[in-house]
Amino acid sequence: MSADLVSTVCPYCALGCGMYIRVEGGRAVGIEYMADHPVNEGALCPKGNAALEILHHSDRLLHPLRREGDVWVQISWDQALDLVAGAIKQALQRGGPDSLGFLSSSKATNEANYLIQKLARVLGTNNVDNCARLCHAPSVFGLGRSLGTGAMTNPISDLENSRCIFVIGSNFAETHPIVARWVMRARDRGARVIVADPRKTPTSWMADLFLQIRPGSDLALLQAMMKVILDQGLMDHRFIAERTRGFQDLADSLRGFSLEWASDVTGVTVADIVRAAREYARSEASSIVYSMGITQHVCGTENVVACSDLAMICGHLGRPGAGLFPLRGQNNVQGACDMGALPRVYPGYRRTKHQNSVDTFRSGWNVSCLPAEGGFTANEMLDAALEGRISTMYVVGENPVSSEPHSGKTRRALEGLDFLAVQDLFMTETARLADVVLPAAAWAEKEGSFTSTERRVQWTSQAVMPPGEARSDLWIVSEVARRLGLDFNYSGPQEVLEEINRMVPSYAGITRERLSAVGGAIWPCPSPDHPGTPILHHDGFVTPDRRGRILPVTYTPPVDSLTDEYPLQLITGRLSLHHNTGSMTRRSPSLLSRVPDLDVEIHPEDARELQVEDGQMVVVSTRRGETRAQARLTPRVRKGTAFMSFHFPGTNLLTADALDPTSRIPELKASACKIVRW
Ligand code: SF4
Repeated sequence: MSADLVSTVCPYCALGCGMYIRVEGGRAVGIEYMADHPVNEGALCPKGNAALEILHHSDRLLHPLRREGDVWVQISWDQALDLVAGAIKQALQRGGPDSLGFLSSSKATNEANYLIQKLARVLGTNNVDNCARLCHAPSVFGLGRSLGTGAMTNPISDLENSRCIFVIGSNFAETHPIVARWVMRARDRGARVIVADPRKTPTSWMADLFLQIRPGSDLALLQAMMKVILDQGLMDHRFIAERTRGFQDLADSLRGFSLEWASDVTGVTVADIVRAAREYARSEASSIVYSMGITQHVCGTENVVACSDLAMICGHLGRPGAGLFPLRGQNNVQGACDMGALPRVYPGYRRTKHQNSVDTFRSGWNVSCLPAEGGFTANEMLDAALEGRISTMYVVGENPVSSEPHSGKTRRALEGLDFLAVQDLFMTETARLADVVLPAAAWAEKEGSFTSTERRVQWTSQAVMPPGEARSDLWIVSEVARRLGLDFNYSGPQEVLEEINRMVPSYAGITRERLSAVGGAIWPCPSPDHPGTPILHHDGFVTPDRRGRILPVTYTPPVDSLTDEYPLQLITGRLSLHHNTGSMTRRSPSLLSRVPDLDVEIHPEDARELQVEDGQMVVVSTRRGETRAQARLTPRVRKGTAFMSFHFPGTNLLTADALDPTSRIPELKASACKIVRW
């Protein structure tokens, strides 16, 4: 390889597609495809192909900034770091450690996430979270309860080996396009594809059987499929007997279950429910692919548990082509969780409430005490800020003003803080509310490891220098910590990774040397000579008795009820050309030019009643707020529903902030709304 080709990983979705950056004269001038990469085999989707556009963008933050009234003043790094450390010290003195809140970044490296959560905990609080709270916290909890670990069970390429792929709540053809390559290969080898979604999406076009369910009715569909499987005796009796516990409780819970009721709730015929259940159960190896369509509900954890139940009663786990595929969103959301940037677990998912976890990290970090009480989740931190219980927040690479539901409330919470520091590439909607803004290096301007949705840990090397005075997250967090008198004297990410190797057993063998190879290594990888573990649960689950837990589930309808005033169900999701809050893709000219504005998809029959025409501006409102959008009339949405992407700031002014009681994920996917002509 030529010296000016630098190996890296795509900064957008969590698939971890590899690529090379071509560097000339200190600038990233092009992308070279990485044909031997195990996930993308050289292919990239439009976002991956456009990844370099943000690096040299004129909007990049170049210097630390301090707010003075409505004006931003450029300050030195020393001044900025002193201000952040000073505000943290003041909060500690006035309100104690739990008056602090930290949002870690699922865009940052594992090493930076590790240090951010360590900083919070060494200061005495577990108030640290990342944007997994908005996407796959139900997977962490749901799969954690049933299988013992909340991660994807098989690698993405293993979808090729499935004979039946059941997709529920995922439009991967747009959100994670490289997945579609593996699903198409499975289809070419004869696999059946079943897609359940309220919208006719590009993913649904691949389906042999498409179930256009009503928003929020996923659990009723999953229960109904299990009922069919039980009634028709399609279970894997041996797997249930040898590998699981709790089957009888599930069977008892479904005894009076009515398929006709499920058909009413879901809008899917009984015949199609039966077909889906039989195809999933009877294939030699079936997979379930799911994403935020099922997790962003008040019953998000129950939905995930139901997927896990379905897989276990049919024995579709622990072997090639048979698994659970939660498709995570941001490029390092898996790693941020693995590193313990969550309020109730230390790195490696060790529970904060278990004294041996606290003792392990107290001795490993050489500190006298660490917090054991669980901290606040991201949305709980915002509520605590509104109540005055959190006074100071440090937000790294997250944009809660756009990403959290009910964003009017989020804005009020952040505006009311005594001090807010935001570290990011651009002046995001959240950074605009900060007291101090810290300019961060982008992924290609620093080095470190990222963990993809399939647990694949990969190293990205630094291709170019950060612009202006921007610095890596790792450097900035270490400097803040040092000003607080903490021993964060790391020589660089490699030394932090060595500490991770010591403190996180599943990463023990994931050394810098191992990560030099294309494709890195897949955890658990407990020793340097371990090959990694592409398929989990092959010979036992990660529970104390190595048996999976089959758990009964209870259907819960969406909280935000439809009324005469708010008669339409608003669902939100991603588009192929944008990502998350759009802070990067809305600055990427080739992506923005193709999708420049916020649209709302409306069914033509609803539009006729509303007297709305295609392309017309409308006002979409819910009980929480309103925003303008351009109407797109399309039969892709069910009559009675509307769809908006969440890549533009207006959408989350509307969304519901009711929480799943277990994982605390908000119900972003079902909000009662009305639409009027503007
Ligand atoms: Fe990047 Fe995801 Fe597209 Fe791959 S599929 S190129 S990781 S955005």
